[in-house]
Order: sequence, then structure tokens, then C-alpha cells
Amino acid sequence: MGKFNENYVITMKDIVREGAPILRKVTDEVDIPPSEEDKETLLCMLQYLKNSQTPEIAAKYKLRSGVGLSANQIGLDKRMFAAYIVDDKGEHEYTLFNPKIISHSLTMIYLQQGEGCLSVDRAVPGYVPRYERIKVRAYDITGEEVVLKLSGYPAIVFQHEIDHLNGIMFYDHINPDNPFQLPENVEIKSVF
Ligand SMILES: [Zn+2]
Repeated sequence: MGKFNENYVITMKDIVREGAPILRKVTDEVDIPPSEEDKETLLCMLQYLKNSQTPEIAAKYKLRSGVGLSANQIGLDKRMFAAYIVDDKGEHEYTLFNPKIISHSLTMIYLQQGEGCLSVDRAVPGYVPRYERIKVRAYDITGEEVVLKLSGYPAIVFQHEIDHLNGIMFYDHINPDNPFQLPENVEIKSVF
């Protein structure tokens, strides 16, 4: 059994911070069907996100609130991420291996308040342009191939996490000359 199993509570001390080489590496594909250890790890990562969005638990363990977590953010060179998003349509939880964006819209979106990251202990102002809609092929927790269509905020979360798995940080997308300059010749609007 690996370190990150059902009895382990991930806390901020497990979260790798910017500057660590593993956050700048293209992560290795996970074997499919996934091993029990990889599945347990991914579920443990999902639990972090749920805990972090539950005020009493977050306070007890001093967790920063997060909606997505990639394996390299806990120091593992593995292509997998968890996401937990609560919106007006309900709760959406994802545990995915080897995700890949197979198509995307031309239109883009960005979060008015910018993006944050559990691996970044500072506010980085600026707009992060993302595709408004994406189609992702991945393997779910049982090892079944799935194709997911995402739009709006969940699409932003997925792009942030898949970027992590490719060694890309959110601020790499921010215009270095003017952080609030949006890309030109592209239809782009804010979310929220
Ligand atoms: Zn992040």
C-alpha cells in the first residue's frame, strides 16, 4: 500500500510548491488498468479537495481550498488528477488517468478574479485565457475509457490541471507585458 491511501489525510505539507522541478516536468502516463495503489492515491487526492471545501475539516487540518489537484502537486510523476467542483447544478467529482484534450472551441474564457493554485503561495494578478469548451479523453477510476465534454468553469479547472501534468503553471498564460491584456483576434469573455 502506498503512502496516499484511504487512511491518509493529505495536508498542505504534502503539497509541492512552485520551484520544485516536478511541477515543470511532463508527467509519465499511468498504466491502464490502473494499479490499486494509483487508484487509492487518486481517491486520496479527491478527498483532499472535499476536505478543503468542508469548513470544519479545512480549519482542523489548515487546508487551503482547492477544486483540482494533480499528482505532481503531491510529488508523484504520474499523469492523473482529481477535481471536485460544486456549482448551481450540483457536485461534480472527477478522478482521471492519462487525460488528454482531444478538441476545443475557438472561443475563450477567463476568470475575472484570475486563477490560484495550491502550489503557489502568492497572488498572481492577471487574466488566464482558457478555451470555453473542451473535449477530454481519459480513463476513469475503474480504468474505463471516457470522453468528457466540459464548458465554462469546469473546463477552466480541467485545463489548469492538465497543464500541471504537462509542466505548465497557470501564470505561464498571463501576458507578461500587461497581465490584464486579453488575446486579440479571439472571442473571449469572462466567467463570473
Ligand atoms: Zn494548480
